[in-house]
Amino acid sequence: MNDVIYMDNNATTMVAEEVIAEMTPYLGRLYGNPSSMHSFGGQVGGKIAQARARVAKLLGCLPEEIIFTSCGTESDNAAIRGTLETIPQRRTVLTTRVEHPAVLSTCRQLERHGYAIVEIAVDKQGRLDMDQLADSLTDDVAIVSVMWANNETGTVFPVEQIGAMVRARGIVFHTDAVQAVGKLPMKLSDLPIDMLSLSGHKLHAPKGVGGLYVRKGTRLSPFMLGGHQESGRRAGTENVPGIIAMGKACDLAGANIEDENTRVRQLRDRLEAGILQTCPGSMVNGDTENRLPNTTNISFEYIEGEAILLMLNRFGICASSGSACTSGSLEPSHVLRAMGVPFTAAHGSIRFSLSRYNTEEEVDFVIEKMSPVVNRLRELSPFVTA
Ligand code: PLP
Repeated sequence: MNDVIYMDNNATTMVAEEVIAEMTPYLGRLYGNPSSMHSFGGQVGGKIAQARARVAKLLGCLPEEIIFTSCGTESDNAAIRGTLETIPQRRTVLTTRVEHPAVLSTCRQLERHGYAIVEIAVDKQGRLDMDQLADSLTDDVAIVSVMWANNETGTVFPVEQIGAMVRARGIVFHTDAVQAVGKLPMKLSDLPIDMLSLSGHKLHAPKGVGGLYVRKGTRLSPFMLGGHQESGRRAGTENVPGIIAMGKACDLAGANIEDENTRVRQLRDRLEAGILQTCPGSMVNGDTENRLPNTTNISFEYIEGEAILLMLNRFGICASSGSACTSGSLEPSHVLRAMGVPFTAAHGSIRFSLSRYNTEEEVDFVIEKMSPVVNRLRELSPFVTA
């Protein structure tokens, strides 16, 4: 077994060996600029075209519908801000309470600049309030941005249904699919989605590369201005090794998506069941019916997530907690708060997010370590009385 048991794949993933092999020459001897006229640069351009085709294949769209960016955050910003520029007369953005900060912080800034932001609520399982969504689709809405899958709970939103509702009102629909790409099969040519964000480092490519799908015919003002790269839709000399890496990673993700939805899902289910069984006062957060195959978010009542993480860290186990330290106090995440998870449970929430590199042996090791950790912390908890 590895020294590190990595179950924090929604934060970032290990770069696949095949991906490193594919990108390495472009960090070294093949350093040409794809915009150059000479063939030394030209051969790099060919590789970028191959990467674009590979990303498009995984998403089920046309290569020319993919714009390479620097990360998922940039893709989200570009989609929202770039759309608003094309429809200045519309002043409302519709999103959800549980989006990643890449979308929520963008919306908060837009609000300061006079836009109206409507954040759709979720229920206790993290499911979207579809009635509120339907009622909010007014003629003033420029763009609807709803994530495909939640990074904290893994809850999957019904993007096809949402896209159909949004399209029927002639509004642009963007989805942040940073956590969904490579984990859920998708065919964008058949879906009512106008724009979609993805990120390389969530699917075994390195950090610093992302993508934005823009359906043919969708109007979008460029976010980054400068040269003519990406057909004028995103200026800046390309992150050549990163793009090549993301192309290869998408290729591998396509080949492994079946495994993700069978073996990885079974590992996640085994981990979840094992923990629930051995740790009293634990419960799963999120919509267990519609969930990413690799994610489980578990609350342990009356103890703090940070303390659990520190103790797991001693065994080399990497996971995440659902609370963040803000100004000295631990605040439960905005996602768990939006779901109305009780304070005593939200504080003690841990996210395990697996990948195809995890094994049954690792899962069993984590289950074995979890209950002594939880019992020990409960003994120390001021909230638990004997
Ligand atoms: N959107 C979601 C749902 C995410 O989980 C993340 C990263 O955690 C992002 C956007 C941001 O992606 P990046 O780290 O590539 O900027």
